Amino acid sequence: MRIAVQAETDANENRVAATPETVKTLIGLGAEMVVETGAGKGSAQDDAAYAAAGAAIAPDARAAAEGADAILRVRRPDPSELAGVKPGAILLAVLDPYGHEAELAAIAKTGVSAFAMELIPRITRAQSMDVLSSQANLAGYRAVIDAAASYDRAIPMMTTAAGAVQPARIFIMGVGVAGLQAIATARRIGGAVTATDVRPATKEQVLSLGAKFIAVEDEEFAAAETAAGYAKPMSPEYQAKQAELTASHIAKQDIVVTTALIPGRKAPILITKEMVATMGRGAIIVDLAAERGGNCELTRPGETVVTENGVKILGALNLAGSVAATASALYARNLVNFLKPLIDRETKVFAVNWDDEIVKATLLTRDGAMPHSNFQPPAGALEAAPAESPEAAPAAVTDEAPAAQDAAEAVAAPQPAESPAADDEAGDAGQAPEDESAPEDEPPAEDAAPEDAAPEDAAPDHAASDQAAAPGGARTPSRRPKPRGRTPRR
Ligand code: NAD
Repeated sequence: MRIAVQAETDANENRVAATPETVKTLIGLGAEMVVETGAGKGSAQDDAAYAAAGAAIAPDARAAAEGADAILRVRRPDPSELAGVKPGAILLAVLDPYGHEAELAAIAKTGVSAFAMELIPRITRAQSMDVLSSQANLAGYRAVIDAAASYDRAIPMMTTAAGAVQPARIFIMGVGVAGLQAIATARRIGGAVTATDVRPATKEQVLSLGAKFIAVEDEEFAAAETAAGYAKPMSPEYQAKQAELTASHIAKQDIVVTTALIPGRKAPILITKEMVATMGRGAIIVDLAAERGGNCELTRPGETVVTENGVKILGALNLAGSVAATASALYARNLVNFLKPLIDRETKVFAVNWDDEIVKATLLTRDGAMPHSNFQPPAGALEAAPAESPEAAPAAVTDEAPAAQDAAEAVAAPQPAESPAADDEAGDAGQAPEDESAPEDEPPAEDAAPEDAAPEDAAPDHAASDQAAAPGGARTPSRRPKPRGRTPRR
């Protein structure tokens, strides 16, 4: 079982899909590891560290891929980099499938079984594999650090001989995984933190982190969370009330970090250009929703905009990639956790259960076909694909290679719940957001502070909670805008 780790080809990608730690783990599981030279360069890992962990070092991507049973990547590779892999080899990467069906078809033609790591379902069993969560957590942290670095004033309250310095007012919009970590980070560096979300469950989480919660808490708010813990799109009436509430608040903020997303949709606009015009000179907005259109009307994805009134809007992309060593360490562990159930412990070869819920949710190409019902090849794109044959099938799978149509049907069909827990997680098939599991590890209620524990203008508590290494996940580490959002999940 040969597993190859290739270097990323995107010049802006510093992460790597395996670290010396995970190389050792995979060797312990029976793998022969090969790492392309320089793969860890952007993540503070040199070839010698991989060699010391037991990996062979390959001079280029093709040499790494030669004879491999699995390829580990951060981003979708060019099909040419897969030349020489074993038929049916496994590819793990953030495949960024939305709108890239043609690129996926080209990968399908190589015969690899490609798994999209960002499509891992949010079920209890898959939490340790959830790359969206591990990367969003870091993005939330980095958003606040970047904001602080761009801000031309100090963040914490200071009492000095020359007089007092007031703490920076930091407002976090959207309290999912990234937002929770942003709150905790903003508190740690001494900001006076407020936060908003449309899901009522977030109120307690915000308070437990010592921040103040701000929201329109009407009947619609009470019902804004799906069974799976995600936000529903809000009515125009609610949005108008929300805008009215946040407009006056935003005008007083020094730093605003936005992370608000609705699965499968363009990000909601929460900050209009009129609101930006009310902010003070030197104020900062970091828009973590930039990849999905942005929460601020003036955001330009991947760029920093400075408005006429001196507000800086950072259109953050791949923020996790700017803490590459940590992001790689977590991503690499996510991949190991995904691979473990695919390996037969006795024979030490890949033995994929193609009927497994996590496999079905993430498998985009297999045996020259595209089995995922949400990501079908453009017309004619697979015509030249090799006909399915026993030889083309992976050597050690637990079932017969299914016809592409069968596989597509299998993915599209509702699946039986595996356990009472899984049953709880199941929702209306086809209703994407409602289908996802509820968070398991929210900050405990008993830690919640009274609502007025962190008044907007109060000096912050410098012993801010560390709990925001919280649940779940947020956005894909991909750098490209995603017009159609995430895949429906059960
Ligand atoms: P997300 O990235 O989909 O959205 C970010 C936040 O934006 C959410 O909290 C959402 O409610 C909020 N939002 C949407 N519209 C808004 C609006 N108009 N105004 C203000 N806020 C708005 O969320 P996420 O980080 O993926 O987390 C969503 C949920 O999934 C959370 O409850 C999280 O704990 C859970 N989760 C569970 C698991 C798991 O069980 N394995 C894993 C990851 C996340």
